[in-house]
Amino acid sequence: MIIVMKSGAPQSDAAKIMEELENKGLQPVPLYGVERTVIAVIGEERELNVGHLESLPGVENVMRVVKPYKLVSREIQKEPTTIEVKGIKIGNNQLAMIAGPCSVESENQMEKTASALSKIGIKLLRGGAFKPRTGPYSFQGLGKEGLEIMRNVADRHKMAVITEVLDTRDVELIAQKADILQVGARNMQNFELLKELGITKKPVLLKRGLSATIEELLLAAEYILSHGNSEVILCERGIRTFEKETRNTLALATVPLVKQWSHLPIIVDPSHATGKKSLIEPLSKAAIACGADGIMIEVHPNPEEALSDGGQQLVPEEFEKLLENLKPIAKAVGKTF
Ligand code: PEP
Ligand code: MN
Repeated sequence: MIIVMKSGAPQSDAAKIMEELENKGLQPVPLYGVERTVIAVIGEERELNVGHLESLPGVENVMRVVKPYKLVSREIQKEPTTIEVKGIKIGNNQLAMIAGPCSVESENQMEKTASALSKIGIKLLRGGAFKPRTGPYSFQGLGKEGLEIMRNVADRHKMAVITEVLDTRDVELIAQKADILQVGARNMQNFELLKELGITKKPVLLKRGLSATIEELLLAAEYILSHGNSEVILCERGIRTFEKETRNTLALATVPLVKQWSHLPIIVDPSHATGKKSLIEPLSKAAIACGADGIMIEVHPNPEEALSDGGQQLVPEEFEKLLENLKPIAKAVGKTF
């Protein structure tokens, strides 16, 4: 941390601050300039209260030099984290391909989807049973019934279940039935939910919030890790910008940047990022090319009849073709699926 004193502030102000820092076990190193004093602070700065330091007499500015997260960072763990779900290792050279409808609507819809996907080797089945909808009159998901449907269908096809958890009250139930618990964009900063997921034993797929910075995404993951669950998969799903042609703006730089800063795996969701079928293939290619550990795509047997996100869901045949077209890109970056 760097503490910049005001121009002309008496040296006694800096001395008081240095004494306080020393009492907290930190090592302040003063640099006395012609106009002002700057104090470099050596030691664990994450627990220092910046607001308090800024409020002290003579202080102009306080700057952090280390990232505010710890457990998710590469400094703590150099090797990438791999998370194993049903024989699929997420975070290594095998790309995690997650597919399935936006919402679980019926046994028949899930059966059609899962049988088509499992035939082409997909093992990770997505589908929302509890849905976070913008308006209260839209389809809210089948809830517990949807969860049962998904589990039964996935078991029949030896697939893993990825489904969203909206509320702390549902964590236990969903953790019993699902293999990966998804935190949706709208809940990325639901800190009570993150803490609760920290004490479950199931991997968590944490989606980036609509207006969250990369640092905030990593801090949200830090909540889960710091409560005991180290199995977190991050997901870039686009952020809200002034652009209206796509549902969101896919911020692909997140992928290599997160790889530099964190050991956690990161996947990309081009379906929610674009909202447009025609953009899913090019952006999936780009995601794989820039180092994503997997992609998550919405697939529905009959998108025109879908109860949510009909316009962005691929039919299984389109998805199969997409997979074929992704293979050369995966090969080029040394990955398989
Ligand atoms: C979803 O994946 O089902 C979903 C609702 O996406 P997001 O939270 O990214 O909007
Ligand atoms: Mn959706």
